[in-house]
This record gives sequence, structure tokens and C-alpha cells, in this order.
Amino acid sequence: MPDTTQQVLIIGAGPAGLSMACALADAGIASTVLEASPEAELAEPREDGREIALTHRGTAILQDLQAWQDLPPEAISPLRQARVFNGTAPQCLHFDSGQAERLGSLVPNHWLRRIAWLGAERRPLVQVRTQAKVTALELSAASARLTLEGGEQLQAPLVIAADSRFSATRRLAGIGAEMRDFGRSVILCRIEHEKPHEDQALECFHHGHTMAWLPLGGYSAQLSSLVLTLPTDLAQAQLAWSEEQWLAWVQQHSQGRLGRLKLAGSRHHYPLVATYAHRFAAPRFALVGDAAVGMHPVTAHGYNFGLYGVQCLASLLAGAPDPGDAALLTHYAAEHRRTTWPIYQGTNAVVRLFTDERPPARLLRQGVLAVADRLPPLKALITRQLTGQGRIGFSAR
Ligand SMILES: Cc1cc2nc3c(=O)[nH]c(=O)nc-3n(C[C@H](O)[C@H](O)[C@H](O)COP(=O)(O)OP(=O)(O)OC[C@H]3O[C@@H](n4cnc5c(N)ncnc54)[C@H](O)[C@@H]3O)c2cc1C
Repeated sequence: MPDTTQQVLIIGAGPAGLSMACALADAGIASTVLEASPEAELAEPREDGREIALTHRGTAILQDLQAWQDLPPEAISPLRQARVFNGTAPQCLHFDSGQAERLGSLVPNHWLRRIAWLGAERRPLVQVRTQAKVTALELSAASARLTLEGGEQLQAPLVIAADSRFSATRRLAGIGAEMRDFGRSVILCRIEHEKPHEDQALECFHHGHTMAWLPLGGYSAQLSSLVLTLPTDLAQAQLAWSEEQWLAWVQQHSQGRLGRLKLAGSRHHYPLVATYAHRFAAPRFALVGDAAVGMHPVTAHGYNFGLYGVQCLASLLAGAPDPGDAALLTHYAAEHRRTTWPIYQGTNAVVRLFTDERPPARLLRQGVLAVADRLPPLKALITRQLTGQGRIGFSAR
């Protein structure tokens, strides 16, 4: 067993925790990743229905980590345009990639998990211990100590928690979090359609539900991922329907935008809960990934924020004599908050506006879409934020 007392300990081998370990290794810092699940779930992650929209900055970070090239070409689908509709009104807010070749790329989540695992596997400075569930944590100015299920204790100069938006270690570190339960769930499913998607995403805010269509051009010009957002009780009811009955409902509500539809996969569902940690650092402790910021998926920022945090923290720790240095962790916390807080708040405001069924809200969103569509500078600003080109750099030290 390697001596972990000088290594950074990372809790959680999701895509954020594993990418953190890879980024630290590239900065010359050894780490051990502790993961509750068995190895097979990390090495061969199952398809989970999520198609992750990556910004230009998120993509660049994966390229720097040498992970991007592990993706098969078909797993990368270009996103070149997006249209946002309010109800059945024909007018829409239209975004295109302007001078850029694309707005971003869509990659299946199970592929992102897999390339993060492959990256960790080939770096000698990264150890991954599976079936190692963290149950207790003690933090002091001198060091961090954690306990695994079974009683084993490990000590380190720094513990980084990447153990999901419902992070238990965040709570053990005495850090609270804002939690926003939207009372809604998403049903995800791949669907083949008659008309080509032209690499265009459609976001349709209907009364009572939202339908987003994400184009999967890497696989086919006639394949998209449907992201259907519904009040949770309706989502549960729909999941009990047969596939035929559900497809008929989707067909009826798709307004023929993509022609005849056919299921191309199984349905997956997720409750929608956003979380934002009150602090991102404590003595000898930092939060990354969803454990720091768990986003509503409508603006597609969750994993991108995970990658921005990984890049920021690893750059700050590179070359530092003590990776648990309090000033560095404070700098990371402030920087990550500056990057994420405006978009977290903006995303929640968009969700509130577009899920409020009262007539004034419906009118207001029609107005917002019309005004935004006629104001190129505002559209350009939104596009820059959504594609990760808003604040590319950050001041490390
Ligand atoms: C429907 C949906 C659509 C999304 N779309 C987008 C998108 O378009 N763009 C985007 O950027 N993001 C998107 N996201 C967000 C993205 O999926 C997440 O941000 C990302 O998967 C989080 O990764 P993570 O590593 O932080 O957490 P997780 O993947 O949750 O990993 C946490 C890991 O920690 C382990 N763990 C937990 N507790 C312990 C413990 N005590 N001890 C040891 N191990 C532990 C778990 O087993 C797990 O492996 C979407 C999310 C959803 C639900």
C-alpha cells in the first residue's frame, strides 16, 4: 500500500474527481482517489442517457488533459445552432456560432466518465481505490484525516471532495449548501426522426413541460436526444406508460418539428435539484465538481464548471510546497465562485421564468425572447457565456 500521508486524497471517482487527479498528476502532484463503487462501474460505465454539452473552454481542458483524443469520433456531435421557443408561438430566439465553427459539442456522459478513467489509469501519479467509501473526516490546520468504511484511516495535506451534488463529505466538513428542488424531473431518451436536425438544438418551453432536442450528428443526422422536463408526479406517471404510449405523447407534443419519431434507446430519468456550496474550501479541504456546484441542466454547465474548477485548483497548486496551503485554497474558492455564481443565479432565474405558468410570466417570457432576439449585443453576450468564452482566463496567484 503506497504511503498516502504526502499525497492529496480525492473523494469520488466521477468525471470531476478523476479529472482532478489527472490535472494534479500533470502538475507533478500525486493523489489517491477513493471511490465507493466497484472498479467495473468506472472502467465500463453504463449508458445513462445524458448527452453533455461541452463549452469551448471545457473541451480545451479535456484536450490539455490528453483525454479528448480517447473519444471515438462518433461520440462528438457538433452543436452549431440553437433555437428557443415559448409555447407554440412560431417566433424564437436563435443562436448561431457566428465566426466560430460550432457553439459547442455534445458527448455522451458515459464516454466522459470512461475517458477520465483511462486518463487516471495511465498516470503513475494517480492511484484509484475502489470500494473505498469515506465515512468520516477530521480537518485541522496541520492535516486532514479521513476514515473509510471498515475503519481504516488515511491522512493527507489536502482532501478534495468530488462526491456528487449530495456530497456527504461537504457536510462532514461543516459546509452547508443552498439546495433548490425544482419539483421537476427530466426524462431522457434517444429518438430517431424523419427530418434532419442540421446540428441544431431546439429548446421548447411549453405550458406544463419543456422539450429540448439535442442533435447527435456524430451518430446520425436523424438522431437526437430528447430531454423532457415535467413536474415529478407527471414524469413518474409517464414512466409507467408503455414505450408506444409515451412515444405517441411525444409525437403529439413535438409539433412536427422533426417529423415522424421512433425510439432509439431506453428512457432514463433524473430529479432536478440544484446545489451551491456555501464555501468551496475549508482548512486542508476543497470541493470540486457537483459537490461544489450542482447545476440545473438547462444551460448545460454542470460538468463544464467541474472542469473549470479542476483547471483552476490544479494551476494554483502546481509547484506549491504545501498543497493544503490555506491562502491557495482561499484563492481557488474565490475564483470558482466568481466564475460560477452569476451563471448559477442566471440559470435558476431562467428556470423560474420559463416554468411559471401564470399569464404575466408567459407574456414576460415572450417579451424576453423577442427583445433578446432583436439585440445582437445581448445575444452575443449570452452566447459567449453559454459557450464558455465569457471569461477564459483566470488569475492564478
Ligand atoms: C440530465 C442531466 C443533464 C446534464 N447535462 C449537462 C450538460 O449538458 N453539460 C454539462 O456540463 N453538465 C451536464 N450535466 C451535469 C453533469 O452530468 C455533472 O456535472 C457531472 O456528471 C458531475 O460529475 P462529478 O464527478 O462531480 O459527480 P458524480 O458523477 O456524481 O460522481 C461522484 C462520485 O463520488 C462517489 N462517492 C459519493 N460518495 C462517496 C463516498 N462517501 N466515498 C467515496 N466515493 C463516494 C460516487 O460513487 C460517484 O462515483 C447534466 C446532468 C444531468 C443530471
